[in-house]
Amino acid sequence: MHPFEFLRPADTAAAVASAAQANTAQQGADVRFVAGGTTLLDLMKLNVETPVRVIDINRLPLDTIEAMPDGGLQIGATVRNADLAHHPTVQRDYAVLSQAILAGASAQLRNMATTAGNLLQRTRCVYFRDTAMPCNKREPGTGSPAITGANRMLAILGTSAHCIATNPSDMCVAMMALEATIHVQGHQGARAIPIGDFHLLPGSTPHRETVLEPGDLITHVTLPPPVAGSRQVYLKLRDRASYEFALASAGVVITVAGGQVTRARVALGGVGTKPWRSPEAEAALVGQPTHQTNFRTAAAALRDANPQSENAFKIELAKRCLTHALQLATA
Ligand SMILES: Cc1cc2nc3c(=O)[nH]c(=O)nc-3n(C[C@H](O)[C@H](O)[C@H](O)COP(=O)(O)OP(=O)(O)OC[C@H]3O[C@@H](n4cnc5c(N)ncnc54)[C@H](O)[C@@H]3O)c2cc1C
Ligand code: SF4
Repeated sequence: MHPFEFLRPADTAAAVASAAQANTAQQGADVRFVAGGTTLLDLMKLNVETPVRVIDINRLPLDTIEAMPDGGLQIGATVRNADLAHHPTVQRDYAVLSQAILAGASAQLRNMATTAGNLLQRTRCVYFRDTAMPCNKREPGTGSPAITGANRMLAILGTSAHCIATNPSDMCVAMMALEATIHVQGHQGARAIPIGDFHLLPGSTPHRETVLEPGDLITHVTLPPPVAGSRQVYLKLRDRASYEFALASAGVVITVAGGQVTRARVALGGVGTKPWRSPEAEAALVGQPTHQTNFRTAAAALRDANPQSENAFKIELAKRCLTHALQLATA
């Protein structure tokens, strides 16, 4: 690992001021925050990330989960994934979030990983993590060997000619279905970003993954008040039963009255270049009876998928995953 300066600021303003000196908040940033370190330190050991300054945010007062006056929930940036998944309010009112987190990584990793770090985890594309290979995300303009190479795990939605890397997060899929908002403190003030606007499609600039700018510190995430009577399921399909990233996953938050769907929020994981909300599937569900045929029709929203040489199987897998998640939620 190359040498770097390690800072432990005492307050949020000091952390933001230090980070605001960064050349970018995207790939190649010379200043990085570190929280659990389970993404950043891996990538520093591989020389994929080479910050000259690392700002430890673990002393900042960002580690609480609190009820909000409107009935929603505020989750601090450094709340550990394990603490979030096992929080009684999350288990009762936001079950899809608890299930998604517990479907990811391992118990040890979830004890370290944080809310903000999970939002910003990087793709597992093997070429991105190997500095001997070209990669447009790591080094813009060098190419994307994944497009003709090992792409079985990679995306079928939101891809471009420049990058087809999957966003690997389970937590983000649940947060998409729950319509979370990400709160950021930057050197010019605070702002709130709906999670659907937070991650960027790769387009011709795959090294830009989020809307974050230098200095931006994620302080917390908020969830809207729980939807009364909603049923929630996160279903993850993968090559082995644990400690593996999704080939396809689905997070659903659905409300049923009189045998008909009255409200639906649907998000998919393992298939998109960003956590993937499907308004088409939601529209196809609302007003329809809770019948498998209708669930399958909703899953047909994946018709715009753009598979590569090794991952066309994900289209049918994702359709079955969503159909089954809807069946589980409405059984
Ligand atoms: C072996 C392994 C298996 C895994 N399996 C899964 C899985 O199945 N599913 C899944 O979803 N995830 C999985 N993960 C990923 C894991 O969930 C992430 O590594 C973790 O959530 C990152 O959180 P962290 O706090 O450790 O992040 P860090 O490594 O500390 O930070 C990650 C990034 O976020 C930035 N950052 C952190 N906090 C802030 C902040 N407050 N504001 C701005 N920037 C910030 C850092 O600068 C860095 O760029 C796995 C990881 C490993 C190593
Ligand atoms: S898919 Fe993206 S991350 Fe993977 S090699 Fe291509 S540019 Fe790099």
